[in-house]
Amino acid sequence: MHSKILIVFLILAGYSFSSFAQERTFTRQDTLRGSITPEREWWDLTYYHLSVKVNPGDSSFTGSNLISYNVLNPNQVMQIDLQPPMKITEINQDGKKQRFKRDGNAWFVKLNEVQKPGEVKNILVEFEGKPKVSRRPPWDGGVSWKKDDNGNDFIVTANQGDGASLWWPCKDHPYDEPDSMLISVTFPGNLMNVSNGRLRKLEDNNDGTKTSHWFVANPINGYGVNINIANYNHFHEVFNGEKGNLDCDYWVLDYNLEKAREHFKQAPMMLEAFEHWFGPYPFYEDGYKLVEVPYPGMEHQSSVTYGNGYKNGYGGRDISKSGYGMKFDFIIIHESGHEWFANSITNWDEADMWIHESFIAYSECLFTEYYWGKEAGAAYCRGTRMNINNDRPIMGIRGVNFPGSGDMYSKGANMLHTLRQIIDDDEKWRQILRGLNKEFYHQTVKSEQIENFIMEATGLDLKSFFGQYVRDSRIPMFEYAIVDGNVQYRWANCVRGFNMKLKTYINGKLTWLEPTRRWKTLKTENPVKEVKVDKDFYVAALSLVGEYCKEKN
Ligand SMILES: [Zn+2]
Repeated sequence: MHSKILIVFLILAGYSFSSFAQERTFTRQDTLRGSITPEREWWDLTYYHLSVKVNPGDSSFTGSNLISYNVLNPNQVMQIDLQPPMKITEINQDGKKQRFKRDGNAWFVKLNEVQKPGEVKNILVEFEGKPKVSRRPPWDGGVSWKKDDNGNDFIVTANQGDGASLWWPCKDHPYDEPDSMLISVTFPGNLMNVSNGRLRKLEDNNDGTKTSHWFVANPINGYGVNINIANYNHFHEVFNGEKGNLDCDYWVLDYNLEKAREHFKQAPMMLEAFEHWFGPYPFYEDGYKLVEVPYPGMEHQSSVTYGNGYKNGYGGRDISKSGYGMKFDFIIIHESGHEWFANSITNWDEADMWIHESFIAYSECLFTEYYWGKEAGAAYCRGTRMNINNDRPIMGIRGVNFPGSGDMYSKGANMLHTLRQIIDDDEKWRQILRGLNKEFYHQTVKSEQIENFIMEATGLDLKSFFGQYVRDSRIPMFEYAIVDGNVQYRWANCVRGFNMKLKTYINGKLTWLEPTRRWKTLKTENPVKEVKVDKDFYVAALSLVGEYCKEKN
């Protein structure tokens, strides 16, 4: 999802930026949620069968989750997450009731039987309650109980940030995903439920309700699991992509069908562009879906949710202010882009979430470039710099469910765009993006894995580059002065060892400089009159006294 766009004032020439410590106190609950606790570490998720009955009458959910896992180490205490006011009512293993106790959002199950390494085991967790109602989805997670224009129920879940455990019991940490999942939802029989994956079966319960069974054949992140109940209409098309035929299904409110048929032509355009840049769509087995919802949208895996009003831009605005942002529907492009970065390549910890948002904010530039040319994509990217706060690093804090700054979107995109300038080879850059999607296909990864992959692929030492843009909040400052016709220059406002090479134009001539934190001098044949930094680098440039003095004399 795209975070709220804040209006910020950015002054590029000055020392006004400092690195803010990420000051925040964390609680035991943050650690239980955000770390790989001993009660999580010993078991590896293999499968969920989530069954939920949605009751619009009293806004409650009742259901069960069958959790299958491989035993990695002997242990008999298991952590399952479910946030109040939802509660677990019973837990069974091998037909026998198990004891459990609650600690805030975490539930600790004391299993009767010794769990032997190598065994595959199941537990059946039954739950019920009135899940938190979302006041402002998707930023405020929860369930929305809305009505469509004809007064039909329009019931959807969205829970990024708050977590899947907001409404169903699961292992709520991104590092571990089940290999597949079945989602069975019982709902009012005059409506339809759309969840992730493919519809395996639709049952009429002959009591005014129906049950849909959606099966996801691939690993799925917890926050991607969703329920969407509405008076849906549906159309289907096949996209002929890199891995063959991809089923594309569009579920929209019945009265929006014609509008959607026209507007969703952007979906195959998106698939074509992103397969070019990132490689094959990562979930051919599960198909691709766009599902209409009463909030802006979210990257739910293989059932991307859409609520941008069938209009280009984001809520009718161009977040890049470059003009190109009005040429496409932000939600279709951004949220679908997450199928590659977020759903296929998933962050290992919430602190690594910049992997999702930086690459996908940058994917908007790549989409623009694919259809309107390289300079258009670059202009879009540069335009998003107005959204950057430089308040704290884009990397968060590990182990406490704490993502980095909202700068992970626009600053992350500009970091990647800057990196592309350093690599200075567009085809190599595309192969790196595709390579990441091959190397980390359907995996949960740490920032370091992404960084090391790029360093290996380029042969460049980018440790201080990532140190600067991922782990520090400051914009590096290129300081220069023209002294006796020569340019003196250095990096300031940067991390130790920062040595990013920089594309400049000296007297109009393209010149790569290799600044460090120490002053260097570029000696030229003709006196230097003008120094310009390439605009595709996200850096600040500060001209010190030199040329001003000369011009006045
Ligand atoms: Zn996003």
